[in-house]
Amino acid sequence: MRPSRNRAWGHPILKTFLEDLAQTMRDEGFAGVLVGDMSQPRGGPMKTGHRSHQSGLDADLWFRAAPDYQLSRDERQKWSAYSVVAKGWPPQVNEKFDDRVARLIQLAAWDHRTARVFVAAVIKKELCEMAPPGNRAWLRKVRPWYGHKDHLHVRLKCPVGTISCIDQKPPPPGDGCGKAMAFWFKPAPKPVKPVKPKKPVKKKPRKEVMLSQLPDACTTILKAPAG
Ligand SMILES: [Zn+2]
Repeated sequence: MRPSRNRAWGHPILKTFLEDLAQTMRDEGFAGVLVGDMSQPRGGPMKTGHRSHQSGLDADLWFRAAPDYQLSRDERQKWSAYSVVAKGWPPQVNEKFDDRVARLIQLAAWDHRTARVFVAAVIKKELCEMAPPGNRAWLRKVRPWYGHKDHLHVRLKCPVGTISCIDQKPPPPGDGCGKAMAFWFKPAPKPVKPVKPKKPVKKKPRKEVMLSQLPDACTTILKAPAG
């Protein structure tokens, strides 16, 4: 999507991964995947954030459903992603979060080439609630992160045999649900009462210097007729 951004570059392993994922989605009756940012040619740097999209192993996948036809370049440029998270507190997914979105995240996380999949915390929470007891191992790779309401961010493991690529530590053991998510669902802090401005400290009135207190010489000058 958004071809003018010129961020459709990546390691061959990423290209294969995305093609495989899109094919699996099609095999399951969905119409492929809309791929957002990958990397710029030769990595980066990028002007606006996205420091992670520089190794050629990261890609954003839109939650928006792909159509059942080939998008034109113009459509790919003009289409926008849509959020699957409702506005307001407490966080909730909206009606656009459906089985297809859940399946896309699951398939991305399931793949042995994937290191992590980042989604909004409330999306992970929803997946935690949906996943049956015997099928939760993939949740470990699904990590809550800021943003990511309209796309997931997939990061692949370093390709075998590359020296310059260093894998992150794997996510902590377990599915990362429940207590591990508490941080993301703390109620918003109450607005802080505005601090009353301090009363201005009254300055002691400056003592007027009386003529009588001045040295005699000064008194003479002051008493002298003008001119
Ligand atoms: Zn991203």
